[in-house]
Amino acid sequence: MSNLVVTTRCPISYDRAGGKVTVRKNAGGVSNSLDKLLSKEGGTWICWGDGTGDREHEVESHNGYTIVRLFLTQGEKKGFYDGYSNGTLWPLFHYFRERIKYAPSYFFSYENANRKFADAVSRLVTERDTIWIHDYQLALLPGLLRAGGIRNAILFTWHIPWVSGEFFALLPESGAVLSSLAASDAVTFHTALYRDNFVGSCNLLLDRSEDYAKKAFAIPLGIDYEHYSNTGRRVKNPFPENRKTIFSIDRLDYTKGLTDRVLAVRTLLERHPELVGKFSYVLVVTPSRTSIKEYINAKRELEMNIGRVNGEFGTVNWVPILYIYKRISEASLLSYYMHADVALITPLMDGLNLVSKEFVAASRHGVLVLSKFAGSSEELKEAITVNPNSHGEVADAILLALTMSREEAFSRLEAMKAKVKKRDLHWWLGRITKRMELQIAEREEFGQV
Ligand code: UDP
Repeated sequence: MSNLVVTTRCPISYDRAGGKVTVRKNAGGVSNSLDKLLSKEGGTWICWGDGTGDREHEVESHNGYTIVRLFLTQGEKKGFYDGYSNGTLWPLFHYFRERIKYAPSYFFSYENANRKFADAVSRLVTERDTIWIHDYQLALLPGLLRAGGIRNAILFTWHIPWVSGEFFALLPESGAVLSSLAASDAVTFHTALYRDNFVGSCNLLLDRSEDYAKKAFAIPLGIDYEHYSNTGRRVKNPFPENRKTIFSIDRLDYTKGLTDRVLAVRTLLERHPELVGKFSYVLVVTPSRTSIKEYINAKRELEMNIGRVNGEFGTVNWVPILYIYKRISEASLLSYYMHADVALITPLMDGLNLVSKEFVAASRHGVLVLSKFAGSSEELKEAITVNPNSHGEVADAILLALTMSREEAFSRLEAMKAKVKKRDLHWWLGRITKRMELQIAEREEFGQV
């Protein structure tokens, strides 16, 4: 068996500016783990070359495997990526009904872009390859490959939530998307709930004669625990010692509940004026999808509310929220994880949320306040779980976290560390590889190969 991996983003991209070319590493849990897998076992990785210098690197040998880039025009990018992927599917799968854009032209671009990926896969696939496709931007790919006569085993990993069948049925192209995914041999999700919702959607919208539960699996993504938990690392505390620190880091996205979180801090200070000056909330936000109107508006709304709360409760010596809007270095991120007293992770909806797992692994003594709508809450039961829609509930949770005894904080953290350690990145990769092998064995048994 050999690997043919397909993702939208490439592991590395080349950017050209003023005659100089810089290499951009698209770091992130999934990208890193796929890089590790392919560098160990070899294979091919097909992806969209979105860097301005990528055209000179259409095919590249990298870490012992081959990267093959395909290219999209600005117009194709707009319809496929900004449009259908992030304007239609993203809000749909995060239950933001009022934000879903229904535009036939978006779907047209999406299908065309998926067709480009299908052409590349068909051109490069060999008999021994297992095709491993990732995420919501490529939902039509399994169906297109099957229609083109590709019989290889296809594994699809879905990284965002899957909604209930009735909600999914809002999508005019729900049948096309679902029947394509169901053409895979196996589809994996990060929680049992998403898996069950997918099976429910298939039962609601597709031919009932197939047993879809046989091809849907919950295998939650893990992190490189050793890397984040490296206890030997000496890292200076970046926060002031004389007050408690609350920390969060998110991409700027309306699904992350950033404004609601700021308003929860406001509720906390309104209810507990004695906390003025007693804590700092370091709110780090990293730029994301900056060309899309909704994201520009979300930034404006967030910054307005931070200003309001800081203006209302701040003094000449103190403001409640220290806002940072940039990508931070890994070293800074680790030092924040290690030394924060509280991590406040309250997305309105999130496929998994790697940050919560990374915090658990790295933290020395911290308390995790976690949204019940983050996929990771299915595993991290010892966090203080909140409904992010209730500012009062989140305010109470922050207070509980700030005042929790060291013993209780420590025992909750230890229990979560054990889980994150057990189901780490190697576990995930191992489970996925095993799943592929089992699906292939089953196909061979039933003569489907
Ligand atoms: N991250 C990073 N630098 C930053 C901000 C985030 O490396 O400045 C990483 C973070 O460590 C995590 C990932 O980006 O691995 C975010 O993943 P998550 O699942 O929490 O959210 P997503 O952005 O995928 O919705």
